[in-house]
Amino acid sequence: MSKRVALVTGSTSGIGLAIAHKFAEMNYCVALNSFEPAEDHAALIGELDALGSGEVAYFPADLSDASASRALADAVIARFGHIDVLVNNAGIQKVAPIEDFPDEDWRRIVSVSLDSAFHAIRASLPGMTERGWGRIINIASAHGLRASPFKSAYVATKHAVVGLTKTVALEAAEKGVTVNAICPGYVWTPLVAKQVADQARVHGLSEEDVVRQVILAPQPTKQFVQPEEIAEMAAYLCSDWARSITGSTISIDGGWTAK
Ligand code: NAD
Repeated sequence: MSKRVALVTGSTSGIGLAIAHKFAEMNYCVALNSFEPAEDHAALIGELDALGSGEVAYFPADLSDASASRALADAVIARFGHIDVLVNNAGIQKVAPIEDFPDEDWRRIVSVSLDSAFHAIRASLPGMTERGWGRIINIASAHGLRASPFKSAYVATKHAVVGLTKTVALEAAEKGVTVNAICPGYVWTPLVAKQVADQARVHGLSEEDVVRQVILAPQPTKQFVQPEEIAEMAAYLCSDWARSITGSTISIDGGWTAK
């Protein structure tokens, strides 16, 4: 059997990087992606490539452009022959009241998280169904299930990603392909570190107080999830034991959505 191939969008940092790391350790061929040129990530690519017996390659694509996602999937198929696992992970955040929410930020957030998932799924699902095996994992969020103020684009997009997940799961159900959304609470990554700094400025609080009073307020464990916890779940979803898990939202959120 040829090696499994995983495309992980937005995989040079945070959750995507942890997932790519895990798949490389599992000897998958791993397609890394972000919008920066390959030279920026040469060390990272080499490091991941050395982890397993699969091949690790980098595919630059700016997913704020809808057509880039389809081209990305096509490039991965051209290089590795097929995609067995698609992880739609790339995502960005913008915090602002709806009255002031910039049009370009709305458009960019919807493109990077939702439009790109739609196009990547459309490009990779036919090959998965043809081979009778595939896994699509969408990294949604606790904000795909619950709202918070000032995150209109992010919350709307993540709810839509959950809807997309359920729909494609039903369409692929008899074809050996599962489609699930992982919904993390706050995970300690550069995306959150930036929010801490921004919120400290806005609220006039220290970064420690922002973490305690603002960021971790909805997360009952009062602890950040670690990116590796999301990666382990992604790996489990790719195991044969997970073949009946489809159309699910899997919360890894320290109890946030229990409330
Ligand atoms: P991160 O900022 O650490 O990493 C984001 C990755 O996406 C990077 O590799 C970046 O280069 C890439 N990316 C950003 N814009 C892109 C673009 N236009 N085209 C291609 N790649 C692009 O973020 P993270 O915290 O690891 O978040 C990853 C995913 O997890 C996102 O979808 C995010 O919404 C979701 N999530 C994060 C948290 C959290 O607390 N960190 C919680 C729930 C959900």
